[in-house]
Amino acid sequence: MSEQKIPYKIYLNEDEMPKNWYNVRADMKVKPAPLVNPGTLQPMTAADLAPVFCDELIAQELDNDTREVPIPDEIRGFYKMYRPSPLVRAYCLEEKLGTPAHIYYKFEGNNTSGSHKLNSAIAQAYYAKKQGLKGVTTETGAGQWGTALSMACAYLGLDCKVYMVKVSYEQKPFRREVMRTYGASVTPSPSMETAVGRKILAEHPNTTGSLGCAISEAVEVATSNPGYRYVLGSVLNQVLLHQSVIGLETKIALDKYGVVPDIIIGCAGGGSNLGGLIAPFMGEKLRGEKDYRIIAVEPASCPSFTRGKFAYDFCDTGMICPLAKMYTLGAGFIPSPNHAGGLRFHGMSPVLSQLYHDGYMEATSVEQTAVFEAAEFFARTEGILPAPESSHAIKVAIDEAKKCKETGEAKNIVFGLTGTGYFDLVAYEQYNNGTMTDHIPTDEELAVGLAALPPQPTF
Ligand SMILES: *Cc1c(COP(=O)(O)O)cnc(C)c1O
Repeated sequence: MSEQKIPYKIYLNEDEMPKNWYNVRADMKVKPAPLVNPGTLQPMTAADLAPVFCDELIAQELDNDTREVPIPDEIRGFYKMYRPSPLVRAYCLEEKLGTPAHIYYKFEGNNTSGSHKLNSAIAQAYYAKKQGLKGVTTETGAGQWGTALSMACAYLGLDCKVYMVKVSYEQKPFRREVMRTYGASVTPSPSMETAVGRKILAEHPNTTGSLGCAISEAVEVATSNPGYRYVLGSVLNQVLLHQSVIGLETKIALDKYGVVPDIIIGCAGGGSNLGGLIAPFMGEKLRGEKDYRIIAVEPASCPSFTRGKFAYDFCDTGMICPLAKMYTLGAGFIPSPNHAGGLRFHGMSPVLSQLYHDGYMEATSVEQTAVFEAAEFFARTEGILPAPESSHAIKVAIDEAKKCKETGEAKNIVFGLTGTGYFDLVAYEQYNNGTMTDHIPTDEELAVGLAALPPQPTF
């Protein structure tokens, strides 16, 4: 088919939308390592996880074998309110760069939460509701996950308690108000409401909080209140499963026009958008049907893939959650205070960690001023104001397109544009004022977090 036929935006009809999520673990020869009980160092069973997570989500978490998981009709109905998300051919960007590359991006920012997180929020809230629970608790950093979850809970009539990292609570009052508008209660973390919050505040009275600490508080509240469970917006296997809708739609849209990607790029915080975007492509790769270059992009100031260790670690600072085997900087790692670009979690999805460890994907890190430069260029060229997180992928997509200009290759580059940046204007302000700086942790700084890894299981 001739190139002119590819529209600026490739949409799918409702009946073309995926009916199943795709579980990439079914095609992995080496499965991701199981979650482990930090006390016994034995794999967590469904019964061990039941006080923390919803039953159906536990089943999804532990299921390494079912390839296709039907998307319940109620969730597909909710998806139809804001999906399919457009796959955009970045004609304007290509022209501005003067590259022969063909650039596509999957835009997940077209909903009120402003990111892909709603894809898993609605699924997790649905299974909680189906189990007859009263509500869910969670943490949020920048606020996208909390917003997505509060939207999903409002839709289904569930109570939603959000522990928001204190520095974001103070810096992003507007995001907080969106959550409250959807009916969530929002508490700055660490708080005096939980034992773990009081302990952290006693040790570090001036702390501005961290994701790991907010997770500990949310888990404590879920396990100590009947009818509540904890939900998490990234990292877990179940979240990658739900996010596979991103990659499935992308693949259906590209297949319509006979386009085969050469390079697939995504930003990586906990790994959920990247895991979702690449899922069906990775499946083909794992089954030996096709080959793609897959690149994870992370901040140089929080470099879990590129400088972390592949080991069992806590997902939270309070050290009450199960251990996950992942690329990690250590649960005590907190990015430098000048880091404004998101993607600040110390670990990485166990699925992506295993795939990276086994050589199925690459990872690279970028510095935040370069990320914002790419963000600004993209905003001025393609019109969308990107989230700083998404801009990590933009930066590397632009770099790859520039390489194509040098070599004259017309590669197909696909990247995930995970969200919009309207609530990140403090970071944009720093960039515009020229006060944004880069920080690359030294080996000595990283060694502190890595030295504190818990005892490793021996099975
Ligand atoms: C949360 C978020 C990310 C990073 O999370 P992943 O789980 O790595 O996908 C990226 N972009 C946006 C807009 C986000 O809200």
